[in-house]
Amino acid sequence: MTTTVRAWAAPGAGEPLEPITIVRRDLRPDDIRIRIAYAGICHSDIHTVRGEWGDKTYPIAPGHEIAGEVVEVGSEVRTFAVGDRAGVGCMVDSCGECEACADGEEQYCTGGVVWTYASTYPDGEITQGGYSQEIVVTERFALRIPESIPFENAAPLLCAGVTTYSPLEHWGIGPGSKVAVVGMGGLGHMGVQIAHALGAEVTVLSQTDRKAADSKRFGAVAHRATADPAVFRELAESFDFILNTVSAEINLGDYLGLLRRNGVMVNVGMPSEHLPMKVQSLIGRRRSMAGSNIGGIAQTQRMLDFCAEHGIAAEVEVISADQINEAYDRVVNSDVRYRFVIDTDTL
Ligand code: NAP
Ligand code: ZN
Repeated sequence: MTTTVRAWAAPGAGEPLEPITIVRRDLRPDDIRIRIAYAGICHSDIHTVRGEWGDKTYPIAPGHEIAGEVVEVGSEVRTFAVGDRAGVGCMVDSCGECEACADGEEQYCTGGVVWTYASTYPDGEITQGGYSQEIVVTERFALRIPESIPFENAAPLLCAGVTTYSPLEHWGIGPGSKVAVVGMGGLGHMGVQIAHALGAEVTVLSQTDRKAADSKRFGAVAHRATADPAVFRELAESFDFILNTVSAEINLGDYLGLLRRNGVMVNVGMPSEHLPMKVQSLIGRRRSMAGSNIGGIAQTQRMLDFCAEHGIAAEVEVISADQINEAYDRVVNSDVRYRFVIDTDTL
């Protein structure tokens, strides 16, 4: 007997989300069932259901920032018990055998990651995400949510938190690093807080000055509005590391000019457009251009524990299900402070 639960889903590309019911599988021996308390709205949900990342099978119930409580465990589950706090991020399974999986970087699994929604398990089960009452997932892809972080503030850490933590950790950002975070939305506001907690000196590069006071509150030493082209002259060759979280097209060359010799620009923002750049922007100062995809399961747990230790989490606006479509438009307009999370009691 499978379980039917309430969810919100897009019936087709670009169509508004609406209530549906979805089916969750019976627990396998290594599965846990989580009653979802809150689910974050990531800009990736919007890119996906609006068809900006290619064709998908609909309906899609998005959501890969999931926090809640374990309500049932399979017969062989060892790491979770009923009543535990648990989270699920962007992945629900991987091959477990390839080099990336062996390295604990399941997000780069070459055998095939199973994403939390709009993805297919090897047995044909199509995944549906966190805008729903419950999710069933193997214990290996569930995370422990520290007691000190409320569910609504923890949910966005499962994607926005780890996506910004991962490159900062990978490139060894810490005391002495001069970091710029481009775009202060869901990812950006976590990137600022985490980079600051790691000991870096952080500057926010935002379109306008509207979020300046928040940048300082999140630990940045400076906030500059990129609408003013003088910023690109004044900050030329200032940073060791740039984290680009922008969801839309930007001129990469302008930003590369802000890097010092040997500086690195890591792109996590994923607009559908091609972003042109000249290699000259890299060559003259031996700069690097890179990308980074979420983070592995062990790294996600390290990030959650790091956030708890440093007293940081996502700043959220809690919404009800019937506000999801309006929230999508606000996210696209850079009008979210700083993550919408859905109260799943309202689904
Ligand atoms: P978000 O909350 O919408 O934040 C994006 C920010 O980018 C906005 O708040 C805005 O910041 C800035 N921005 C938006 N449009 C812009 C424009 N036309 N020009 C310049 N800046 C602009 O989105 P998010 O949830 O943080 O996600 C950001 C991107 O990362 C999305 O493309 C998403 O799909 C991607 N993503 C990637 C990964 C990964 O693993 N690589 C994981 C999650 C998400 P200001 O108001 O400060 O200008
Ligand atoms: Zn996401």
